[in-house]
Amino acid sequence: MHLDIDLADRRVIVVGTEQTSRRVVARYRAAGAVVDRQDDAARCTQAVLDGAALAVLVGDPSSGAGMLREACGRAGVLLVREAAALEAGTVTLIGGGPGALGLLTLDAAAALREADVVLYDRLAPTEALAELAPAAELVDVGKLPGHHRVPQAGINDLLVRHALAGHHVVRLKGGDPFVFGRGSEELAACLEAGVPCRVIPGVSSAISVPAAAGIPVTHRGVSHLFTVVSGHAPLSDAEHEHLAGLGGTIVVLMGVSTLPQLVAGLGRAGMRADMPVAVVERGYSASQRTTAGTLSSIVTAAGAARCQSPAVLVIGEVVRVGLDLQGGAAQLARLTESLAS
Ligand code: SAH
Repeated sequence: MHLDIDLADRRVIVVGTEQTSRRVVARYRAAGAVVDRQDDAARCTQAVLDGAALAVLVGDPSSGAGMLREACGRAGVLLVREAAALEAGTVTLIGGGPGALGLLTLDAAAALREADVVLYDRLAPTEALAELAPAAELVDVGKLPGHHRVPQAGINDLLVRHALAGHHVVRLKGGDPFVFGRGSEELAACLEAGVPCRVIPGVSSAISVPAAAGIPVTHRGVSHLFTVVSGHAPLSDAEHEHLAGLGGTIVVLMGVSTLPQLVAGLGRAGMRADMPVAVVERGYSASQRTTAGTLSSIVTAAGAARCQSPAVLVIGEVVRVGLDLQGGAAQLARLTESLAS
């Protein structure tokens, strides 16, 4: 059930110990309520309840729960129940998807709602974070390419330190935490320190950003496999040969700066010069843009368009399928012709 009550400047009585109700108290304060916490349901007399908008019982119904229900009934105050905070700290590693709020999972939103601390990245959906995690301290550990704001060891340390202090820590990452996200390293650091860590997968940009541009990563009769590669560092010639030899879709993350090496390598490995290639920048943002070309034209096209990270590259016939579906085939044909002449 979702109750939509304006609690600004309204008194809310929270019944529970300081430890178990700290998250609930923080959440109601964040909603603007004036919170009056009571350790014991028996203390919630008519005088305490009078004029309150809401009473909140935290944790298991104790012996006083029945009494509280009756007192609330008499005072005409709504009574709701909330789960107690976990005693020990935990870490929840969340994949936030490619940036669109709608692509955050329900489990991720539920974990954020219960968070005391959120450590988030640059590509995570951050716009609505204050609303999604109303009780949490928000810490930006995001990395800009080439500018590591908080080094990985420092992030691992922060996760463990906050959890050992008894907090529910959410680590929010872009896309899926196990796809080029170093999520497994953070999981290992938590487990090594004896901190329970749960992983909530996310919608990876590897599939969703091409989809945002209308490009399916597989299409019956066109491509029955896709490979996701990191372009963080140039690939070896053996890797170029393997990729070209597979004959399916190639999706490259972090590949804008190494695009020239990739294109040259795939060409050397025998990939057709007219293989369609798309660069999809800033998927799901207002400035999302697709630059399409072929293996022989894309470096010039991406350079002319000043393509920048973050972008997902898609190499394969599925690019043509996507552009066809959107009536963009003419665009690709024009590009190919102009660069061939
Ligand atoms: N774990 C993430 C990937 C992290 S690597 C995931 O599963 O999506 C970071 C790279 O992801 C970026 O360099 C870019 O290639 C890609 N990326 C993530 N979000 C993107 C977006 N909204 N638009 C375009 N590319 C994106």
